[in-house]
Amino acid sequence: EDRTRLAAGRGPGRTADGHPVDLMVNIGSAADLRGVDLDGVAGVGLFRTEFLFLDRKDAPGLDEQVVAYAEAFGHFPEGTVVVRTLDAGADKPLPFLGLPEEPNPALGVRGLRVARDQPEILDTQLEAIARAAERTTADVWVMAPMVSTPVEAAEFVERARAYGLRTAGVMVEVPAAALRAERLLQVADFLSIGTNDLSQYTLAADRQSGAMADLLDPWQPALLRLIAACADAGRRSGRPVGVCGEAAADPALAPVLVGLGVTKLSMSARSVPAVRARLAAYEHARCEELARRVLDADDAAAARAAVLSS
Ligand code: PEP
Ligand code: MG
Repeated sequence: EDRTRLAAGRGPGRTADGHPVDLMVNIGSAADLRGVDLDGVAGVGLFRTEFLFLDRKDAPGLDEQVVAYAEAFGHFPEGTVVVRTLDAGADKPLPFLGLPEEPNPALGVRGLRVARDQPEILDTQLEAIARAAERTTADVWVMAPMVSTPVEAAEFVERARAYGLRTAGVMVEVPAAALRAERLLQVADFLSIGTNDLSQYTLAADRQSGAMADLLDPWQPALLRLIAACADAGRRSGRPVGVCGEAAADPALAPVLVGLGVTKLSMSARSVPAVRARLAAYEHARCEELARRVLDADDAAAARAAVLSS
């Protein structure tokens, strides 16, 4: 039955020989799911909650957040929804937070770091997610952005569990986190690799600067090596490691990521059909072979050529 759905461009993600890969969607609010064909989609791999906090004078209250999260969860009665806690600062400014003016905002107070001085925003959000989770059959996971150390990860996970959230993980967006992937997975239930920020910080190239596109390219072998390190740690611990940045939406890269050991790919809904089709064309052993080729390439163009010419 899965084969028939795949032939029709639908159904769950899998390689040609049936190795499963969760295909998930990135959303900013439940509105992004309207009219979307969710057949074979395992759920939401990245719910960017910033949308709810934009263009306002103060943070949304508990009840308002519960309603917004519950609406999104309602679309996946049998799926998983991964909610990312507020990722403000740098490329996602939120004036009401009153964050300090900084010379290098991308290296400053952003993501989980905002909770150092303003923990109440995170606490309210975790409580709202937990309450909305009680109203749904969806499996609700929660994760923090911009985590750098195992201590930060452990503190976040402990906080999430205090609100009754059972599955808590962290994003890998900073090279320091990728280098400690094994340790992170001892405290966190899963990792989700944010390749947009991970490439920015690995290649020292501003994600908002078009001039650095060749360095920010998700095919950069240095970035792929960090992804491989995370995936290896996931394999050893038996815990899921997904990719939710733009890299996951590149159909040609999908078999490579799966070959590296990534178990979930989360992307904008419109990217799902092409990624699903490409994955279905490769046996898993072939994905592993492609993965080996890219890691030794000298730049992104060479990595791409090594795969596309094969
Ligand atoms: C990322 O950094 O890859 C990511 C998924 O988060 P965002 O693009 O929202 O920073
Ligand atoms: Mg990010």
